[in-house]
Amino acid sequence: MYRIEDHMGRRFEKLRVSLLNTCNFSCTYCVSDSTTAAPQGIALAPATHEEQLDTNEFAALIAAVHELCNLKSIRLTGGEPLLYMNLMPLIEKIKLIGIDDIRLTTNGYYLKQTARQLKESGLQSINISLDAIDTVLMKTIARHANPQKVFEGIETALQEGLHVKLNAVIMRGQNESQIIPLLEYAAKLGIKVRYLELMKMGHLHNGQNELFFSEQEILETISRKYPIRRLDRTASETARYWSAGDDRVFGIIANESTPFCHDCNRLRMDSRGYFFGCLSNANGEKLAPYIHDQESLTKKLRQLLLLKQPVKFHGSSLSMRNIGG
Ligand code: SAM
Ligand code: SF4
Repeated sequence: MYRIEDHMGRRFEKLRVSLLNTCNFSCTYCVSDSTTAAPQGIALAPATHEEQLDTNEFAALIAAVHELCNLKSIRLTGGEPLLYMNLMPLIEKIKLIGIDDIRLTTNGYYLKQTARQLKESGLQSINISLDAIDTVLMKTIARHANPQKVFEGIETALQEGLHVKLNAVIMRGQNESQIIPLLEYAAKLGIKVRYLELMKMGHLHNGQNELFFSEQEILETISRKYPIRRLDRTASETARYWSAGDDRVFGIIANESTPFCHDCNRLRMDSRGYFFGCLSNANGEKLAPYIHDQESLTKKLRQLLLLKQPVKFHGSSLSMRNIGG
């Protein structure tokens, strides 16, 4: 067996796949004003028809990487993965490859009509992005008109027995007022919310970061209302967790304040088949030419692993919707 491990003992154990780089939302932190367009449709320039991978191409790449890395789990994301036409057949193919732990990250808009099928297809866990409980704020951030559908999506996913976590990007002057309402909403549903520090990705990469709201500030906000206590971190987890009072647990993904590069085990693939070893490196590598040659594929994967930062997250010019957030 080829060994793909760096000098810090890091391996690729989790793969995130951006199934398509299109989305029905245009969240302000993900899509720059200049690329915002179509009011109810595709707001981003899609990969061209020739570039976009089909399910067989996705499956062949995933199988080849799995063969060498023995992946523990795979997360389907985007863009908006529920817009990917052949999602269920792709999930079936991934299961046949031998990866049972299949997860999804979604904006939740199309979840009401897809949750049952997702559950039946064997998907276990869903992260749903929800940046505000206040619907006016939600519309402002997502630049989309119907927040109610996201709430319905969350509730349906839970009714179908899916394991659900909420993700909320917190931005200064925009939605820090929502930290407590999000915590209480999640607790009412019996699920966890994870707050994300704003990451310097895409159009935010080189700009002023006056919107940045730190992990420390999130903790201070919550501790003004609830006593908080740190919980143990699982190795390679992106989030650290706290309890707030007796029956609330929340996480924070703090790429800036508390980077987790030292034990990062993630590999990313975009909708064109480019692979990325690190969120802080925009240089993707197409692996399709190497999938029938394990020695060359190993070499390429090792090179991608070497791109991982040792300690500090820097971000990159690629938007999360491209690289698979
Ligand atoms: N459309 C799906 C969604 O929104 O959940 C999946 C793709 S989205 C790119 C994945 C995650 O990346 C979301 O939770 C989103 O909030 C997060 N994200 C995107 N851009 C970000 C940024 N600049 N900083 C922090 N999180 C970001
Ligand atoms: Fe779409 Fe997700 Fe990006 Fe928002 S964060 S624009 S929902 S891909």
